[in-house]
Amino acid sequence: MNDALKITFLGTGTSQGIPVIGSNHPVCSSEDPRDKRLRVSALVSWKDYNYVIDCGPDFRQQMLTNEVITLDGILFTHEHSDHTAGLDDIRPYFFRQGDVPVYAHKRVADSLKKRFDYIFADENRYPGAPAVAVNLIDKDNPFTVGSVKVIPIEASHNRIKVLGFRIKDFTYLTDVKTITSEEAEKVKNSKVLVINALREEPHHSHFNLKEALEFIEEMKPDVAYLTHISHMLGFHAQVEKKLPKNVHLAYDNLTITV
Ligand SMILES: [Zn+2]
Repeated sequence: MNDALKITFLGTGTSQGIPVIGSNHPVCSSEDPRDKRLRVSALVSWKDYNYVIDCGPDFRQQMLTNEVITLDGILFTHEHSDHTAGLDDIRPYFFRQGDVPVYAHKRVADSLKKRFDYIFADENRYPGAPAVAVNLIDKDNPFTVGSVKVIPIEASHNRIKVLGFRIKDFTYLTDVKTITSEEAEKVKNSKVLVINALREEPHHSHFNLKEALEFIEEMKPDVAYLTHISHMLGFHAQVEKKLPKNVHLAYDNLTITV
């Protein structure tokens, strides 16, 4: 069990989080802590290793809440702000550990370089600015983090491509609208599958609940967790009740072992 992966859902909300600022939607005023969703991210831990998938605007709070003292790297799914805007807050890790390894597709790394130029600067570095060590990844090349192999899986998020990750029997995919059968092959036989399900209504760049459930049905994991959830999906307790037996809504700070 020493090598077992511990997965912590750091955030399970869509891009605005739940509650949405200024919203009077009943889910946004829910007292159930599972209806409060930070921007989507997950922590993958084993032995002494800690890797996060994405680093959105709630990263600092997520690291504090889960007492993540050391960070071995960040795997980016894509460049949208809800997945990247917290990058400046790697500073405490940078000060203690040095350059923080990041794993990103070249397009994503280029976008981060524009938006966080001071983090990527080679010369005239601003005092106190954090730095990263960039590892470029793509769908065709598995890579190693710590002691485990990571298989990148490409999917489409409307016009842009996103990467999901398979680590042993655990697969994490978010912001998926379509996926080729070739890439879906990489997902099959996962014990645990995390997949996005935004709401019941269709959306141009995200699986809705129906599409997510169909994908799970095809991939046949032992268990699946839904993430990247909008307040429009409804109350956690009510949605959870109507899901198939092996499918659950993830919620913030839920931990599972794979
Ligand atoms: Zn997103």
